[in-house]
Amino acid sequence: MPLPVVAVIGRPNVGKSTVVNRLAGVQDAIVYDEPGVTRDRTYKRAFWQDREFLVVDTGGLVFDDDTEFLPLIREQAMAALAEASVAIFVVDGKTGLTGGDEEIASWLRQQPVPVLVAVNKCESVEQGLTQAVEFWELGLGEPYPISGIHGNGTGELLDRLITYLPPADEIEELPEIKVAIAGRPNVGKSSLLNAFVGEQRAIVSPISGTTRDAIDMVVERDGKTYRLVDTAGIRKKKNVEYGPEFFGINRAFKAIARADVVLFVIDALDGVTEQDQKLAGRIADEGRACVLVVNKWDAVEKDSHTIYEYQKEIHSRLHFVEWAEMIFVSAQTGQRVDKILDLVDAAAEQHRRRVTTAVINEVLEEAVGWHTPPTTRGGRQGKIYYGTQVSTQPPSIALFVNDPDLFNDGYRRYIERQFRKSLGFAGTPLRLFWRGKKVRDMERSVNRATRV
Ligand code: GDP
Ligand code: GDP
Repeated sequence: MPLPVVAVIGRPNVGKSTVVNRLAGVQDAIVYDEPGVTRDRTYKRAFWQDREFLVVDTGGLVFDDDTEFLPLIREQAMAALAEASVAIFVVDGKTGLTGGDEEIASWLRQQPVPVLVAVNKCESVEQGLTQAVEFWELGLGEPYPISGIHGNGTGELLDRLITYLPPADEIEELPEIKVAIAGRPNVGKSSLLNAFVGEQRAIVSPISGTTRDAIDMVVERDGKTYRLVDTAGIRKKKNVEYGPEFFGINRAFKAIARADVVLFVIDALDGVTEQDQKLAGRIADEGRACVLVVNKWDAVEKDSHTIYEYQKEIHSRLHFVEWAEMIFVSAQTGQRVDKILDLVDAAAEQHRRRVTTAVINEVLEEAVGWHTPPTTRGGRQGKIYYGTQVSTQPPSIALFVNDPDLFNDGYRRYIERQFRKSLGFAGTPLRLFWRGKKVRDMERSVNRATRV
């Protein structure tokens, strides 16, 4: 797993899921769905200072009652703990110490994973300290009074928590990049796949994907792994009867939804068609990174201007993905096919990129300095309080403003252009959320944003 895992454990109803959501910071935090046996566990991304980790919520842990499904929940919690770098043991400060807590604690004390005790439901800071005292008895070190609902105390807990995470530079980078090859029929997708496989040689083996008939292929290069998503939808095996659905648009959409990076193949001879434009819209809507692969370049008559004219024409007709890098290849001759994965790497990196709140606000300040937000006839002017990146894949930035209605499309596009100009993000869509905030809420958010 690419990121360290923090397991949240405790009896039912102590507030585990509330705490998980609080740590993940945003309501619509990206959920990482582990396929296979562990479907019931949800992973959410969380950040503290410059550290990123996954928080996993476990079912409520109960030891004394062996009804039918409880062993299963316990197994889930154990599985979560097995992969965790640190565990948060949530207890209920309102109820106080229970026998159930003691049982979980005695089990936790035998585990090789560091444990932090979070005494939840301590809305009052002073009372919380008193409420927390009795949990010293669990023998798991200092209990931290927190409130999952209000957020107090979580800063101290997180400060401590990140000291148990492996150093950031030890975290394995980009363990696997999922790549979908998409494009209209006959643009050369299967030729490209074959060229790829021939080029890289190190094809491991077909792996079945998430849907029943999807086949993924894994290619390795320079120690990096690329999973080519649903190649069965691309390869045309002569001895197998495929219905029209098999190569249909739905299948392509499913592959796109599963991918990190979409190789969007365009036929240089046909140019951009309406179907291509629809596909571009879909890639952008799904928030996938994208590389534009202009194929059949061998068949184009060229002079020294041709490539620039193509570039201009394609980007203007595919404005949904105008941020995508473009490469001109020939699946038939193999020209530049080996460069495609370099662009995939770059796009995947930008797709997962995270920029600090300080940098985002520097860009905003400069952008607003050059070009102030519009003012209505009534004299009301848009005001941007601050921005912060709320998630990755794709990078998504929330802008907290006085009133989103005061920012017209022109100004919104201007701000996005400024972000791209200053920060790059080539190859990935960028999402901006314009959020209205009352000043009092603002102050709270500022506090959180500067801490998270
Ligand atoms: P879980 O079963 O451990 O995941 O617990 P939940 O997160 O579903 O919360 C159980 C109950 O405790 C819900 O009614 C929550 O509203 C409440 N709760 C959770 N966190 C807090 C808190 O910080 N303070 C208070 N007063 N109640 C909380
Ligand atoms: P798919 O339907 O997108 O998988 O397209 P195919 O890979 O089956 O290719 C469709 C047609 O285009 C075939 O006749 C290929 O030989 C041809 N083709 C594919 N790549 C190239 C290329 O780079 N140059 C030329 N000239 N023809 C190509």
